[in-house]
Amino acid sequence: MSADHLAGGRRARRRQRLILIEAPEPDTKVIAPKTGGPLFRGVGEYDYACARCGALLCAGLGAGALAGVVFRCWCGALNQVPPP
Ligand SMILES: [Zn+2]
Repeated sequence: MSADHLAGGRRARRRQRLILIEAPEPDTKVIAPKTGGPLFRGVGEYDYACARCGALLCAGLGAGALAGVVFRCWCGALNQVPPP
């Protein structure tokens, strides 16, 4: 029996698409892609996918967390986390 089961089961997370942008503002933090999984992993309720290719970039983001931060996908697309 897993810890998740004991805690009442894993709640389904909401999967959303990030916002595709042309170029980040000069002072915007851009997270570069890395191999082997999402660029961010947390315990929030939202999963964010690349707006172009659908790859999972942020897993378990809290509502409003990292708003404005730009994630560069493996496909090259620049994705911005939407405001809450
Ligand atoms: Zn992509």
